[in-house]
Amino acid sequence: MTNPYSDVSFWFDSLGEVAEPEVPELPTETEVAIIGAGFTGLWTAYYLKQKNPALDISVFEAETVGYGASGRNGGWCMGEAYGLNAYQADPARREAGMRLHREMFNTVDEVGRICQAEDIDCHYAKGGWLSVAHLPFHARQLQKRVAAKHALGFSEEEYRWLPPEEARSRISIAKDHGAAYAKHCAAVHPARLARGLGEVVRRRGVRIYERSPVTELAPGAVTTARGEIKARVILRATEGYTASLAGHKRTLMPLYSMVTATEPLPEEVWSGIGLGEREVFDDPRRLVVYGQRTLDNRLVVGGRAGYYFGSRRRPTIPRSDHNVRYVEKVVRDLFPVLKDFEITHGWGGLMGVPRHWRPCVSYDVASGMGWAGGYVGEGVAATNLAGRILSDLVLDRDTDLTQLPWVDDEPRRWEVEPLRWIGAHSVRWMGYRADAVEARKQKPSRFWGYWFDKLSG
Ligand SMILES: Cc1cc2nc3c(=O)[nH]c(=O)nc-3n(C[C@H](O)[C@H](O)[C@H](O)COP(=O)(O)OP(=O)(O)OC[C@H]3O[C@@H](n4cnc5c(N)ncnc54)[C@H](O)[C@@H]3O)c2cc1C
Repeated sequence: MTNPYSDVSFWFDSLGEVAEPEVPELPTETEVAIIGAGFTGLWTAYYLKQKNPALDISVFEAETVGYGASGRNGGWCMGEAYGLNAYQADPARREAGMRLHREMFNTVDEVGRICQAEDIDCHYAKGGWLSVAHLPFHARQLQKRVAAKHALGFSEEEYRWLPPEEARSRISIAKDHGAAYAKHCAAVHPARLARGLGEVVRRRGVRIYERSPVTELAPGAVTTARGEIKARVILRATEGYTASLAGHKRTLMPLYSMVTATEPLPEEVWSGIGLGEREVFDDPRRLVVYGQRTLDNRLVVGGRAGYYFGSRRRPTIPRSDHNVRYVEKVVRDLFPVLKDFEITHGWGGLMGVPRHWRPCVSYDVASGMGWAGGYVGEGVAATNLAGRILSDLVLDRDTDLTQLPWVDDEPRRWEVEPLRWIGAHSVRWMGYRADAVEARKQKPSRFWGYWFDKLSG
């Protein structure tokens, strides 16, 4: 059985047979060129074709469909997105933030609906999201968070505090003091979603050129090592890899996040851990720890981030990397019941971080150039909404979606090196300090916590 991408992630490894992509002959011209075959590029192609089946669309992908974050993430399809809290905290932008939030809720269902309609078997299960308090003061923080959601107008059904006993009937970790529950979240197998979506758009006539890295973009032309392609519309969907394009070194910061997966666990272990409805879970640590139960009964847990000087990118992160090892240690601390079981996979993936820490969808009719991205670590559902918005913008449709606050919310560029490296490492260090101080003192770290929250958006 061949699978040239088995070391990319557990998700890719579990696909079984994956054909080696051919290096195709490139077209000289296309109407719409999309750069990147991750969720953003594929959802955009999907909705463009749905709204205008006659469009001639080509997707150029450096490696293979789903090779980036889309085939490596934690598989949380969540009804929230980075930056939503900031919109809602600002009275001038609260109403727009609420519309966006409701649309993110709809997006979780939209992804499920399309997977069903298009027969994409990505193990979608909408079991909700549990934020588990593993320190007593986390319980107070999470209760306040739930109360803040209710104050904004969300219902008890949508966000709920579960006291320890009720929380334990859903998930049991080493120390838990209750959990906040959010309804609008589904678990998915992300590589199956990306590959399935790739097949669907191909069937609709979208051409996907794999192993075709693009080096430069300019109005009307896409440049590759194998020649130039003329295009009326050019859409950038390269997220954490954007620095690979000429002139984009400082557009989005590429930040690594690490994930691990256990071997399939027997039912007696799961009856101890819970997650019977395949709820996803995290805890309120600053350097987030998050996870899901897969359909084949593994525990997948992610956390910890890293940045390499000069926005350098590594194709894969080995299991021996100290950041991956750290996540493994967290898994074993949180779930002592796993002591006799193996962690079989560890990998890393690239997130795209914009300077203002919230997504942007943008299209300029005059030049035909557009892009969507900047989801940080919350893009599984957000890419679907971004694809719907971007397709409306390209087709010049004035809709409710094109009124959402992501539209044309362009970030400024990141600082030059070494400031970028110093900034990324300082913020990470503040996160460690805050988490360590809080675990030791069992109360919020006002100094490190304040600066971490302020600088990380
Ligand atoms: C480890 C990890 C865990 C995460 N967990 C979650 C989660 O649980 N829930 C959640 O909501 N979000 C999560 N995210 C974020 C989410 O995965 C991303 O926001 C989302 O997948 C972004 O999709 P995308 O298509 O924009 O980018 P990508 O999936 O990264 O796709 C970009 C594609 O562009 C291609 N490309 C790049 N440059 C070029 C070029 N020059 N020429 C041609 N092709 C190019 C790449 O090869 C890649 O396939 C996580 C991210 C990571 C890294």
